[in-house]
Amino acid sequence: MTLMERLYLPEILKGVAITNFHLIRNLGIHVAHSLGFAKAIRAAATMQYPDERKRYPDSFRGSHRLTLREDSSVRCTACFLCATACPAQCIYIEAGESPDPQIEKYPVRYEIDTPRCIYCGLCVEACPCDAIRMDTYVHPRIWGFDRKDFIETKEMLMHRSRVLAEKGRDGNMQEMLAWYREQNEQVFNPERAELKTYTERERPKHFEEPVEVTELAAIDRHHGRDGH
Ligand code: SF4
Ligand code: SF4
Repeated sequence: MTLMERLYLPEILKGVAITNFHLIRNLGIHVAHSLGFAKAIRAAATMQYPDERKRYPDSFRGSHRLTLREDSSVRCTACFLCATACPAQCIYIEAGESPDPQIEKYPVRYEIDTPRCIYCGLCVEACPCDAIRMDTYVHPRIWGFDRKDFIETKEMLMHRSRVLAEKGRDGNMQEMLAWYREQNEQVFNPERAELKTYTERERPKHFEEPVEVTELAAIDRHHGRDGH
């Protein structure tokens, strides 16, 4: 550190000067905007999320998806390597015999308990057949009023692969934000007084097959309630 930095006071004054500069500048631009001037100049550095969003970099590691075969069936062979590698133990798989004689098993049930997930990507690294990826450009789910809202099912994870193929890299995020808006509309619509809470809302429509998460299998597993 230089002598000036070690004295602290000049650095504190510098910080206060920068803060005040931005405060006064933004205040001036906001006043100009309200009077109809300088509309092209941006007043604040913050983004009006979710109406505005930054484009995630190509390397962004987002929510998971299960990749599909050419016949649209799930590529996963229920080998459990991802669940074994997962340090947060948040992947729950139930294996079944595959109807395809060339394939031994497939996941009857595949769930990710996302509040436990640390988005480390070890499940993706562990998969021997490229059946799980984190290239959806969807950030972790941001709201829900029920723990079940955060359990990502096999159907949801497969649906993301279909959306990515059909609508491109922003398709999944647009779909999720549209669903959030729809839910808000339902809950806060004064003409639908019967919908008073989020837990009374309609089931999610952002994946095709109707899925009923009847029990929190992934959570139960960590409390030793299902005998695993
Ligand atoms: S990203 Fe990491 S924590 Fe999340 S499911 Fe995969 S292995 Fe587990
Ligand atoms: S996603 Fe990959 S590692 Fe996980 S069970 Fe399926 S095939 Fe195995």
